[in-house]
Amino acid sequence: MQVFKFGGASVKDANAVKNVAAILKRYEGKQLIIVVSAMGKITNALERLVDAYFYKKENAEVVLEEIKAFHLNIVTELFPNKSHSFYNDLENTFVEIQWAIEDEPTGTYNFEYDQIVSMGEVFSTKIISAYLNEIGIKNKWMDARGLVQTDNTYREGKVDFELTESLVKKDLVPAVHTNNIVTTQGFLGGTSENFTTTLGREGSDYTAAILAYCVNAENVTIWKDVPGVLNADPKWFDNTIKISELTYQDAIELTYYGATVIHPKTIKPLQNKGIPLFVRSFLNHDEEGTVVKESGRKLPIPSFIFKVNQVLISLQAKDFSFIAEDNLSSIFEVFYKHGVKIHMMQLSAINFSVCTDNDAQKVPGLLAELQNDFKVLYNDNLELCTIRYYDQSTLDRVSINKQILLEQKSRYTAQMVLKPV
Ligand code: ASP
Ligand code: MG
Repeated sequence: MQVFKFGGASVKDANAVKNVAAILKRYEGKQLIIVVSAMGKITNALERLVDAYFYKKENAEVVLEEIKAFHLNIVTELFPNKSHSFYNDLENTFVEIQWAIEDEPTGTYNFEYDQIVSMGEVFSTKIISAYLNEIGIKNKWMDARGLVQTDNTYREGKVDFELTESLVKKDLVPAVHTNNIVTTQGFLGGTSENFTTTLGREGSDYTAAILAYCVNAENVTIWKDVPGVLNADPKWFDNTIKISELTYQDAIELTYYGATVIHPKTIKPLQNKGIPLFVRSFLNHDEEGTVVKESGRKLPIPSFIFKVNQVLISLQAKDFSFIAEDNLSSIFEVFYKHGVKIHMMQLSAINFSVCTDNDAQKVPGLLAELQNDFKVLYNDNLELCTIRYYDQSTLDRVSINKQILLEQKSRYTAQMVLKPV
């Protein structure tokens, strides 16, 4: 059994869907679990819909019409016969979301978000599954919310692996055995009360890894619009190099610090079961791409990634006392309480510096609480650069025209907090 994941860009219009079918044709007779994201930028559009519905930021009906029109456009190209039964099926799915926004919100923002935003993956998988069946690639549509079980942390559902594994073995595995191909949604989970959760933005990769873990898949392939994992982001740098093999550890270091090619949570379940991960181009199906696996070769060249919109927070005890274990444990508690992830930190006798995302929802509250006990300084609009297998010329290259505010090096990884000048 293999798991394929197709992200939003790979299903952004009718031609893209046809391209997915062309890829699948090459795997005829193979047992596949296909995990699909919402089409194109629909998740962003659905986020607008939630804001329109919950905060009345704009007219929710109008936003929903846009979302419907986008999908119908694709569907008309894929199903030229207007009396095809699929139109009815899709209309019923739209009615579900229509009803959801007719009533006033009753739950929290995050709860309502998950019930609405999740529909993007429901639409995309319904369309793709029906189209594949139409052209002879027989597959069964399954609802991921009945497979991937989470707690009720809406927008960041924590997966119950034990329960998920038992449901996957009971329902998904036999479905693959009888149908060869199962099509399901990335990004979605379900709670014990049958509500929908999502796994965090860009979480479809993680779904692919969760399902692969549960079925002991041979491998996972993420089909992307890039040829594989590159040593730097081609959006910002010329002369990037494709890395053909990577260890799990390298992959986790790179993705955690900003390489968006794979969602960072994807690696752990795969590493735990030794399942190789391929990253390949959906545009050039013949290209080999990148493989991430246990025995992957050490990166032959320095790789570097940037995280932008960082803030460097410096704390000093008001009474000039040391920042020692008692102070540290209460500082970490405050970060944990506000859900602020620490990317890099440095400690001296009376100073503690932390680099983190400058999240407008979280950082102001964090700073306010820290100010009760500490003198707090901060510097924003910074970048965090992480270099795996660094060398001097890469250190120079990434910090050109930038002031280095903080720098740390371990054996394989160098990190710098940079201020553009
Ligand atoms: N559709 C979701 C998002 O855009 C999940 C994903 O694409 O992985 O965040
Ligand atoms: Mg996406």
